[in-house]
Amino acid sequence: MRTDVVVVGAGLSGLCAAALLTRLGVRCVVLEARDRIGGRIYSVPSGAGGAESARYDLGPAWFWPDIQPRMRQWVDELGLSVFRQHADGAVLVERLGSQPAQKYERGFVTEPPSMRLAGGMQSLVEAVAARLPQGCVQCGVRVSRIGFSDMGLVGVEATGGGTGNLTIKADRVILALPPRLVAGHIGFFPALPSSLRNALEVVPTWMAGQAKVLVVYESPFWREQGLSGTVSSFVGPLEELHDASVPDGLPALFGFVGLPAGARKAMGLETLKQSTLAQLARLFGPQAAQPVGIYIADWAMDPDTAMPADCEPPSGHPAYGPLPELAGSWAGRLIFAGTEVATEQGGYMEGAIEAAAAAVEKLTGATSATRVWNPGF
Ligand SMILES: Cc1cc2nc3c(=O)[nH]c(=O)nc-3n(C[C@H](O)[C@H](O)[C@H](O)COP(=O)(O)OP(=O)(O)OC[C@H]3O[C@@H](n4cnc5c(N)ncnc54)[C@H](O)[C@@H]3O)c2cc1C
Repeated sequence: MRTDVVVVGAGLSGLCAAALLTRLGVRCVVLEARDRIGGRIYSVPSGAGGAESARYDLGPAWFWPDIQPRMRQWVDELGLSVFRQHADGAVLVERLGSQPAQKYERGFVTEPPSMRLAGGMQSLVEAVAARLPQGCVQCGVRVSRIGFSDMGLVGVEATGGGTGNLTIKADRVILALPPRLVAGHIGFFPALPSSLRNALEVVPTWMAGQAKVLVVYESPFWREQGLSGTVSSFVGPLEELHDASVPDGLPALFGFVGLPAGARKAMGLETLKQSTLAQLARLFGPQAAQPVGIYIADWAMDPDTAMPADCEPPSGHPAYGPLPELAGSWAGRLIFAGTEVATEQGGYMEGAIEAAAAAVEKLTGATSATRVWNPGF
């Protein structure tokens, strides 16, 4: 198979890059290792009692349109429905040795407010993918090797996709996946310069060491008690909780697990689930131990997001930015995208779009004065 550009990874960045290339008339194929699109964006159905379109986010849930122009623009143009994160009501703080949790009536208001998408963040990637030509995105196809092929083309070798092994020849490749995964899982022939390999290995994948628990209920009993659902806990296992309810779906709470990835693994999912329910009952009363559903997404255990080095999350938000320029035979052939190489707001979905636009700009020479790309759908 032959195309102009192969995009590796159908997360937000890879899909946005493909959408921009398509708009510019450049042929591309997106290869995705998972059997679904979205990467770290992952929304699950509300289930019994909720509308089919109601989904909860086990990956990113929030964006901030006031300070994220690219997210604002893509969400607007795709006609997606936005709602505000529920934060009305008191906040609880759970401290070691002080029972019960303390209640703070002033609540927790983020400024600018955190916004969410109806249908979950998955509706963003689905809407972008729907703008691509049929067959452009191939899921279940894992890229393992990239080398030079005949006539100066790049050969991208992958496994899966129903055909066993697959090679696609292209003029260029956009690598829209975390740098650590590029270094750990993809072989390059000729080899990448060792300085670049080292640079790839040290970039932490944002949120890759985290785990999120989402608990679905019949009724929003915390709201009925005047509570927002926001909790800060020094006891755990959840260290930060928020309301996760969605329009037309059952009410829900979510929390980030405060235990390191190694401790989570040693504990096992069932024990984590039971100790989470015990914490929720401690915070909100006995009905919190009777959910209708519970989901756990441990991103550190997911090899399509995390490498072993990601099990130890960075202590703050890393200073992300573009990788060193490639020299030699790979120069201009391999272009990096993905939120971890963004110039602005790296780590966030805004950064994933920024990096996609920058990669397409580099590849096609097309420029945009503001670097806020209008998807032009
Ligand atoms: C729990 C959690 C909460 C978060 N909360 C927020 C939030 O509230 N707001 C926010 O802005 N951001 C948040 N983030 C970060 C956000 O998810 C990322 O910024 C964004 O999704 C990154 O998109 P990406 O396309 O750059 O990378 P990814 O989504 O990681 O996409 C990379 C893709 O490459 C694929 N891939 C990997 N290896 C191969 C291979 N060998 N061959 C083919 N395909 C491959 C992967 O399967 C994946 O689909 C959160 C992340 C997590 C995990």
